[in-house]
Amino acid sequence: MHELGITRNIVSIVEKAAGGRRVKRVTLDVGQFSGVLPEAIAFCFEIVAKGTLLEAARLDIHNVAGRARCRNCGDSFATTTLYQACACGSRTIERLSGEELKIREMEIEEAA
Ligand SMILES: [Zn+2]
Repeated sequence: MHELGITRNIVSIVEKAAGGRRVKRVTLDVGQFSGVLPEAIAFCFEIVAKGTLLEAARLDIHNVAGRARCRNCGDSFATTTLYQACACGSRTIERLSGEELKIREMEIEEAA
């Protein structure tokens, strides 16, 4: 389960950014084609966050649907598979979203 390593990275990045303060909430953008399962990330987070500044943090996972734009006709459309042709028949498409896996937001406890 490679989500464990990914979750460790996320927790470590957030911990560094938190600068010793407790983290209240973390929001992730997880694309449909990012190759990770949101449920697995949520499961790993419970384990990995234990004993860190993120222990009591809420994890919000924002699922990002796949979208692409056709370089031929300029149309943009939702994609359900990674290699999808445009309605005009062109396969020269530019991926707009769906592959991201990033920390969108984090909420840190105010300094006392
Ligand atoms: Zn097209």
